[in-house]
Amino acid sequence: MSEKLSFVNPTANSPWGTYLSQVDRVVPYLGPLARWVETLKRPKRALIVDVPIEMDDGTIAHFEGYRVQHNMSRGPGKGGVRFHPDVTLEEVMALSAWMTIKTAAVNLPYGGAKGGIRVDPKKLSLQELEKVTRRYTSEIGIIIGPHTDIPAPDVNTNAQIMAWMMDTYSMNVGGTATGVVTGKPLHLGGSLGRVKATGRGVFVTGREAARRLGMDLRGARIAVQGFGNVGSVAAELFAEAGAKIVAVQDHTGTIVNSNGLDLAKLVPISRTDGVVGFKAGGDIVPNEDFWGVACDILIPAALEGQITAERAQRTTAKLVLEGANGPTVPVADDILAERGVLVVPDVICNAGGVTVSYFEWVQDFSSFFWDEDEINVRLDRIMMNALNQIWDTADKHKISLRTATYAVACERILMARQERGLYP
Ligand code: NAD
Repeated sequence: MSEKLSFVNPTANSPWGTYLSQVDRVVPYLGPLARWVETLKRPKRALIVDVPIEMDDGTIAHFEGYRVQHNMSRGPGKGGVRFHPDVTLEEVMALSAWMTIKTAAVNLPYGGAKGGIRVDPKKLSLQELEKVTRRYTSEIGIIIGPHTDIPAPDVNTNAQIMAWMMDTYSMNVGGTATGVVTGKPLHLGGSLGRVKATGRGVFVTGREAARRLGMDLRGARIAVQGFGNVGSVAAELFAEAGAKIVAVQDHTGTIVNSNGLDLAKLVPISRTDGVVGFKAGGDIVPNEDFWGVACDILIPAALEGQITAERAQRTTAKLVLEGANGPTVPVADDILAERGVLVVPDVICNAGGVTVSYFEWVQDFSSFFWDEDEINVRLDRIMMNALNQIWDTADKHKISLRTATYAVACERILMARQERGLYP
């Protein structure tokens, strides 16, 4: 946060600042609803919690945790929980706001929320990780719940962590509350298709964008930054469609192969050793070279703020698919637009995860579970309907897909706000 702790004074180049400037760009398209726009520029509620645990060596460690509920005009808060050493309140605010836009863009009956703990989970034992997760869940338990705010996985969190969160919340309320989190293991009320849903959504929106650009996916060259849940699944689906994955970067480094990396080998190796573990399958190059690799499609699927002005100038991609949240800084967005590079923005491109989370939540309430084909067909339909509507809006106003997504989403959010009115 800036020196004066305030929602409306972002730190320079921060994700929250990026979000605020994205909202500013949509104001001209909001008509009379623009009078409500300040609602979007501050979170409804932000909770900071201390997470103390006893470490395996007997010392007491304290971690800082957050849960931010940005907007709940259209329904309960929804958004993941991130475990990362660089997590800040301001970052979580931005991530929660992007969830508000995203759930409205795909027309799910949710608001936006997000959580995080400033911790490096790779430095914790399994027991310590469980303790951090359970204490954090207890601390934020006063504001989450199946009808109020439903967490899910994000960077460095997974189905096991969701199981601990569900169990902790359930123990505290005295009954099994499967609907309090999504992204759970299958036998605990999880949904088929959830693990791959975000990557699948990136593929679905990317396939449609490529079609509209007249780009054949067969033989298309793709560079992927971030090879976790989102990046690796998207890469596999594009490879199945005939594309070549020519460069992959993760926290361990960058590997390139202009003939296409062998994903069947790279994916399992990357899980244990990172992508640099697959030296036999390509060349390990300096990380900055990733941005200049000859490619047709660039998929940022790691963290925020990765596509800077300089990297936007450098990329040879014609299409950017934002698997990550907030990967492109506003000035880079403008450069990509000037250079004729089409950007499918995060708030629609990576909405597949929250869409299948919504299916999971609905299935938990009815205790009736769909098969994977049904999930994927419904996901495809929701993503395509949303994307087509956004594309029509972009064509109508001659604006970017990002501003069009904000226009569609903000109209829904602010209309709900107006219809509900202010209390008291
Ligand atoms: P993950 O933890 O599974 O994977 C993250 C990947 O990013 C890893 O491969 C890691 O090595 C890489 N990475 C981390 N720091 C990096 C760096 N400095 N440079 C290059 N690579 C780096 O996380 P995920 O769930 O795949 O999430 C990735 C992005 O997608 C995040 O922005 C997240 O908010 C967003 N997202 C995730 C979901 C979901 O369902 N998991 C949904 C929507 C959006």
